[in-house]
Amino acid sequence: MDVLISGAGVAGHALAYWLRHHGFTPTVVERAPRVRAGGGAVGFRGEALDVLDRMALLERVKALNPQILRGELIGLLHEATCQEVEYVFGDSIDALEQDADGVRVTFERGRPRRFALVTGADGLHSRTRSLVFGPHERFVRHLGLYTATFGLPDCPGLCDAGRLHSGPGKEADISSTPGKPGARVALHFASGPLAYDHDDVGQHKRIVAGQFAGESGQVPRLLEEMSGAEGFFFDVNAQVEMDCWSSGRVVLVGDAGCCAAPASGLGASQALIGAYVLAGELAVAGGDHAVAFAAYEREMRGFVAEHQQMGREGADRFFMGTPIQEELGLVAANAPEAAACAQIVRLKDYAPRFAAQWP
Ligand SMILES: Cc1cc2nc3c(=O)[nH]c(=O)nc-3n(C[C@H](O)[C@H](O)[C@H](O)COP(=O)(O)OP(=O)(O)OC[C@H]3O[C@@H](n4cnc5c(N)ncnc54)[C@H](O)[C@@H]3O)c2cc1C
Repeated sequence: MDVLISGAGVAGHALAYWLRHHGFTPTVVERAPRVRAGGGAVGFRGEALDVLDRMALLERVKALNPQILRGELIGLLHEATCQEVEYVFGDSIDALEQDADGVRVTFERGRPRRFALVTGADGLHSRTRSLVFGPHERFVRHLGLYTATFGLPDCPGLCDAGRLHSGPGKEADISSTPGKPGARVALHFASGPLAYDHDDVGQHKRIVAGQFAGESGQVPRLLEEMSGAEGFFFDVNAQVEMDCWSSGRVVLVGDAGCCAAPASGLGASQALIGAYVLAGELAVAGGDHAVAFAAYEREMRGFVAEHQQMGREGADRFFMGTPIQEELGLVAANAPEAAACAQIVRLKDYAPRFAAQWP
């Protein structure tokens, strides 16, 4: 069964691994010209470590601990899949047409192709979601906070500084790991929705510099370092809220369907667990996508409710002394009933269903 995965992030790579493991044939299309390896430290919950263990990657992740960066995780996932999975870089889905037997996909560059299923693993600003389910605004809840992260080379006196600056609606943190050179900076600021081009890194850096202009202490030095920094990441803290993550033969995984926001610290865990469960349910259902997608949702909803609650709480602590929270109606977003959904879900064992098992 040919399955198209849009997006080679954490969710896309992990899904490719598990689909291949269960005997499906995944193809991954990634808009960037190569694997996007940037980003800050990744938080892992136990079940995500369990998924990595089942992928035989846990020992290598542990060797990178206590702080594994997103780019390092992506590197491990890519290495574990690139021999067996077709990756198409520098392209994107342009249109999708579903019929009874499959999905005809046209691409921005490549020739049209047919797939049995299509998976949107293309992140918070998912094109798959907007093509199939509806406009971004219908599903994305802005949390009033923006986060930028980037790496620093060795900077004596700076790299081990911890929290550098904290004021109403602004925070600058720096963290380093013993034995690893350099450090990671995280800059957070509270703001209502900003209009910008998601692909324009220069513009992102100018926005962050503008927000922190005039701040004292080490902040001007950090902004100087930011201008030439590698592995820079900037995005809004927002959550994706959908009643259903599938429509016919198209399904969403990771941030595309249920983003919990950087402030949750658990986006990568959610992507790893979601990919494992989705591929496993497809295998158990023998490729019957309707059965599998319903089971995937049942298994995942508890995790997602918990992570999204953590994302809202994480964003909340930045708002002290700012009017943003009330402006955006975030009090309602933090309704206590969300916490009641939180639960720990035990991962099922999904035995490979098809003859070809890999690895
Ligand atoms: C470069 C980068 C750095 C990040 N750094 C941080 C960080 O420091 N802190 C944090 O909390 N979160 C960060 N994130 C987000 C974090 O990776 C996710 O929240 C989490 O890992 C869930 O992963 P995901 O695979 O669902 O989404 P992502 O990791 O965002 O991956 C989505 C992938 O889809 C690709 N894509 C997007 N649109 C299309 C399209 N139309 N066609 C094909 N491919 C497409 C993207 O290029 C990306 O490779 C970062 C994301 C990226 C892409």
